[in-house]
Amino acid sequence: MTEQLQAMPTDWQRALAIVAHPDDLEYGAAAAVAAWGDEGKEISYLLVTRGEAGIDSLDPVEAAPLREQEQRAGAAVVGVTTVEFLDHRDGVIEYGPALRRDLAGAIRRHRPELVVTMNHHDTWGGTTWNTPDHRAVGRATLDAAADAGNRWIFPELADDGLLPWDGVRWVAVAASPLPTHAVDVTGALDRAVRSLLEHRTYIAALTDEDPESYCRAFVEQAAVEAGARFGGRPAVTFELFPC
Ligand SMILES: [Zn+2]
Repeated sequence: MTEQLQAMPTDWQRALAIVAHPDDLEYGAAAAVAAWGDEGKEISYLLVTRGEAGIDSLDPVEAAPLREQEQRAGAAVVGVTTVEFLDHRDGVIEYGPALRRDLAGAIRRHRPELVVTMNHHDTWGGTTWNTPDHRAVGRATLDAAADAGNRWIFPELADDGLLPWDGVRWVAVAASPLPTHAVDVTGALDRAVRSLLEHRTYIAALTDEDPESYCRAFVEQAAVEAGARFGGRPAVTFELFPC
């Protein structure tokens, strides 16, 4: 029998989801965000870039505002109205103190109990290589959850009024090849499909398939596969790191 995943903790109120690009959350995690919203939880999004290097046929200068707009629309479908962008450069995000400081500052501002990010591992499992932006942002987010609580690591943040926040209790990594926990997303799948579908320009450039069929197939297949390790219920998985 396949090893079963544990249910994600529910005793929290505020979450901050930190990812590299527009669409990162919509490829799966948005279903969990919708389900959490149904329970009255508050979730905000922080995008490290505007995904401006993500569409081969579109110059980054035009792609950036378009992808920002699509991200805001996708977030709104799952009830998220706070969407912020850090303006690091798409494709060449550097892991290091500057990124950690930006993320720690955001965590201090939002004061979440749960931080969500995306796969920080080298691969998606097996030999499918992950991208440098995802690795950098995932790792820096795991680090920043602790940095946010230490007044001496980035003392300049306090000068801007961002006082230490040591209230992050978990970092949940979506799309990890080593998941430990899951969220039942029965009733949230349609919204997850529509949130991905809001990335219209990106998806039109990515596939010749009908956009809605493409989005539905991706989101539903992932949820069913995850469900095999979660009592057969459609699910979104996370690798959970207690802080
Ligand atoms: Zn991405």
